[in-house]
Amino acid sequence: MSDLATNFAHVSQQIRAAEQAANRAAGSVALLAVSKTKPIADIQAMAHCGQRHFGENYLQEAVEKITTLSGFPTENDPLIWHYIGSIQSNKTRDIAAHFDWVHTVERTKIAQRLSDQLPTGKPPINICLQINISGEASKSGIAPDELDDLVSEVLTLPGVTLRGLMTIPAPDDTPDQARLVQDFRKMQTLYRQLQQRVASVDTLSMGMSSDLALAVAHGSTMVRVGTALFGARQ
Ligand SMILES: *Cc1c(COP(=O)(O)O)cnc(C)c1O
Repeated sequence: MSDLATNFAHVSQQIRAAEQAANRAAGSVALLAVSKTKPIADIQAMAHCGQRHFGENYLQEAVEKITTLSGFPTENDPLIWHYIGSIQSNKTRDIAAHFDWVHTVERTKIAQRLSDQLPTGKPPINICLQINISGEASKSGIAPDELDDLVSEVLTLPGVTLRGLMTIPAPDDTPDQARLVQDFRKMQTLYRQLQQRVASVDTLSMGMSSDLALAVAHGSTMVRVGTALFGARQ
């Protein structure tokens, strides 16, 4: 097996083990392969392993990849592209044109623009609302107490479908990871409450290379994995 195929098998196995440990159904956690800064050949190699969901942070780089890989591997089974970077409002048109999902919505204005700028004939964009769960001053995302209002506003927009919540917690290097566990628990609670309220909500985008098992233990339905799949970024 190539390195990438080995990595893919290993990460898939980690997810299966985490699902099992948490008494969750096999396949209940999706893998989003974060391919930012990585070449198109690496995306093709992952796709040949069966991977379909890819995440990108940098718009120009992403649009180039998405355009090049249009129709790959086949028209009927295409790659699914997730935007996971920060969003400036002058970039929403390109995001709406090229992406299937956006994980980093934190303002009504951005959701409104994505909805308005959706190209004719393209299905609504799947969105997750980003929560700043650790309350870091410098981090993107809304505070949990701002969620209800943002949800009400987003639900009025025809060009977006609210699929769930996303978070990037502050790193926790302590051995027991108590703070990270607390953040994941808070997200799990918020997510369950949102699921009660909104029928289209089925996605908790939470967990990366270093903490995916802990995230799955706390209800994540989609882990975003870069380094463990593609190797370290430059
Ligand atoms: C880069 C990135 C990831 C992947 O992180 P790894 O630690 O490389 O797995 C996940 N989510 C977001 C939002 C990212 O920007």
